[in-house]
Amino acid sequence: MGQKDGFLQYDRELPESRPPKKRIEDFKEIYQPFPEVKTKNQAARCMDCGVPFCHSGCPLGNIIPEFNDAVYRENWEEATEILASTNNFPEFTGRICPAPCEASCVLGINKPAVAIEHIEKTIAEKAFELGYVKVTPPEKRTEKRVAVIGSGPAGLAAADQLNKAGHWVTVYERDDRVGGLLRYGIPDFKLEKWVVERRITLMEEEGVRFKTNAEVGKNINPQMLKDDFDAIVICTGSTVPRNLPIPGSDLKGIHFAMEFLKQQNKEVSGDEVADKISAKGKNVVVIGGGDTGSDCIGTSHRQHAASVLQLELMPQPPENRGALDPWPLWPMTLRTSSSHEEGGERRWGVLTKEFIGDEKGLTHIKLVDIEWVNQGGRQSMQEIQGTEREVPCELALLAIGFVHPEGNLLESFGIEKTKAGTVAGNGYQTSVNNIFAAGDARRGQSLVVWAISEGREAAREVDKFLMGSTELPSKNDSF
Ligand code: FAD
Repeated sequence: MGQKDGFLQYDRELPESRPPKKRIEDFKEIYQPFPEVKTKNQAARCMDCGVPFCHSGCPLGNIIPEFNDAVYRENWEEATEILASTNNFPEFTGRICPAPCEASCVLGINKPAVAIEHIEKTIAEKAFELGYVKVTPPEKRTEKRVAVIGSGPAGLAAADQLNKAGHWVTVYERDDRVGGLLRYGIPDFKLEKWVVERRITLMEEEGVRFKTNAEVGKNINPQMLKDDFDAIVICTGSTVPRNLPIPGSDLKGIHFAMEFLKQQNKEVSGDEVADKISAKGKNVVVIGGGDTGSDCIGTSHRQHAASVLQLELMPQPPENRGALDPWPLWPMTLRTSSSHEEGGERRWGVLTKEFIGDEKGLTHIKLVDIEWVNQGGRQSMQEIQGTEREVPCELALLAIGFVHPEGNLLESFGIEKTKAGTVAGNGYQTSVNNIFAAGDARRGQSLVVWAISEGREAAREVDKFLMGSTELPSKNDSF
């Protein structure tokens, strides 16, 4: 490491975000520029500890101490090479990853962790700016053909790796634009869409073909894919939302989060959206305390909601437990998003009992506080007497998770499913010999960094299946 005592000299520092009142006037990313020297100082905080847990804490196996050192030495080309060796899309993870690497950072035991996510984003952007990201088609083509179904981060990573291995890759995407949840789930204030488009253009120039408005099982016949391709990779995500079947749930004004977020993302991209769900002037209640819920909050603020209330069934986590909790508990329990800085109320340990309304639609939600009690080793919830109340609400957004991928496609390929409804298989190979799966469709609702990791690992298995051996890297190589 270049600077042995950087962690003693510098405190953790991140780019300032734009003032909440200002930034909710637009959908642009919230962070302001950060001087390069400050990023260098942040990299200098890496202690070069004997066992870098950040490395194994990252689902991609990012080689973090080494790229921190390269950044400290201002060798952006070397930093780019190190980062690109394990991560196809650091410009995505550098913006929206909950950074399990930071939760594993040894410095984090008694000081704030190294700002790894910010360093990653800076390397990614420097790499584009300085021309280190180049169009690099494979030198040789194998003439094998692979179809990837779904263009979220798992599909993109699988396609990128398989293209690098020399196979002809076609990505089928049912939406009108490529990117999966990067494109139509995650709002622009977290990830502006030019960042996604820049990567797609590069992949196209390197030979990956994208077919949009192409829904396999609807306007694309699964049999055609079986006949025309040597292998198929299913990366269709886990898109069936969890429902809340309580009294009144058929009232007008209750929507799944993704209906709301997708429409806003489309509008930001310049599309006209008919009958748009709008939070303007409404009392909005977001049910669900995760990333999806936070994105609904930020979007509701930007649509000028009258009030925003977020409800979470789980109890409020104690303060300052943070990185001492093992992953994945820490990010799940304590995570706050930039949307929470922008206003609204957040309540934990609250059960939604009933939607109340009239012929025009939703007017109130009936809530009750709950406590979690240990019953024979199992946590169960109990209503707290006297806390039942009705709060005004004209728009309720359900952000309580996703259960599994949509069923018909898997059935049409004859692929076995797990009890949870995700793709079953041996590693990334499904019960059908030449069909593989990666991302949320396989592991269930997860994170972008996991989707990329799964896409890379699945590509390796596909390459081995097609060629008998593979030189594509695995995250296990870097440990
Ligand atoms: P997806 O991104 O869901 O992509 C699947 C794609 O397959 C979609 O484009 C879909 O249209 C397509 N498809 C489905 N069926 C077919 C078919 N039959 N034919 C053709 N195409 C098909 N994770 C983070 O790490 N950080 C975050 O900040 C974060 N925020 C999130 C916010 C929201 C609102 C949501 C919903 C999720 C968020 N996540 C976040 C989770 C993350 O986005 C997902 O884990 C990740 O996108 C999964 O990637 P994937 O490629 O498996 O699936």
